[in-house]
Amino acid sequence: MELLRDHDLSRLTTIRIGGRARFFAEPRSYEELRELILFSREKDIPLYILGGGSNTIFGDIGGLVLSMRRLSRMRVEPSNGKLLIEVLGGTPLRDLISLSVKENLRGIYRLAGFPATVGGAVAMNAGAFGVDISQFLKRVVFVDWSGELKEAGAEELEFSYRSSPFPTEGLLLSCLFELERSNIPVESEFKRIRERRKRSQPIEKPTSGSTFKNPYPMYAGELLERVSMKSYRVGGVSFSEKHSNFLINHGEGSFGDVIALIGEAKRRVYEEFGVKLEEEVRLIEDSGLDGWKVL
Ligand SMILES: Cc1cc2nc3c(=O)[nH]c(=O)nc-3n(C[C@H](O)[C@H](O)[C@H](O)COP(=O)(O)OP(=O)(O)OC[C@H]3O[C@@H](n4cnc5c(N)ncnc54)[C@H](O)[C@@H]3O)c2cc1C
Repeated sequence: MELLRDHDLSRLTTIRIGGRARFFAEPRSYEELRELILFSREKDIPLYILGGGSNTIFGDIGGLVLSMRRLSRMRVEPSNGKLLIEVLGGTPLRDLISLSVKENLRGIYRLAGFPATVGGAVAMNAGAFGVDISQFLKRVVFVDWSGELKEAGAEELEFSYRSSPFPTEGLLLSCLFELERSNIPVESEFKRIRERRKRSQPIEKPTSGSTFKNPYPMYAGELLERVSMKSYRVGGVSFSEKHSNFLINHGEGSFGDVIALIGEAKRRVYEEFGVKLEEEVRLIEDSGLDGWKVL
């Protein structure tokens, strides 16, 4: 495994913003993951796990960024009329969705159309169109922060809206899903969902998905629109015209632009509605904002 230094992070997230990482690696096995965890402990530097980078924005990183993309594989096993699918953490979510449509499996196809990895989707408890990924999960295998391999049943783990015990508890190496066959064909509904997403989200542009969590029972996008943040721009970054809760990088956007925009949006929404918006997107830089695992 190569340990790269001073690595450019800008191509590794979907919003295409990023500084540089002091160390960067793409492990291919549990042994290599463990080696990297022990390396970061020994050096006493923070470690950050990167999946598809579709909900992450990087500044400059003085620690180690570990990309999961080489840990990508699925194994399928029939069980009592259902399918058990074991998926490595770095596998693109779209591979699991495609398989579920091909096999006419219930529900999980509703998560179609966003560029996540399976590990990132479980860590964020990603959801869309009435389903959350955790509801299909049976077990996970993870590596804890001392490098030990652990297993847990889904019922032992606490999932809530866009929240899971990961990466706080460790790094998801593999996830086991139990999926049922549907009595009705799912493909047409899957296509409808994909089309709806294309119409309502700027998926063709460099973006990082939802910036803020929805402050139940309100929608962050609606609050942002009401305080005129739709299309509001700072430097090279703006909120999208198509979906006010999505940030767009217009080419030269920087981490500083993102922080300034987010600050302005939070300020306006708080002043107007008394609501404290909470970031869904992971903003990662050396100052230790959300997402760091400091060992
Ligand atoms: C166009 C677009 C549309 C989107 N639509 C939706 C939507 O409808 N619903 C929704 O929920 N999200 C949506 N998102 C956001 C994003 O896709 C999800 O949050 C997704 O789950 C992030 O997965 P990722 O692999 O890209 O994670 P990253 O952005 O790489 O990481 C996110 C978090 O997960 C952690 N993580 C990643 N891999 C692992 C692992 N193996 N083990 C432990 N922790 C890990 C990271 O450390 C980080 O804290 C959208 C994003 C885009 C760009």
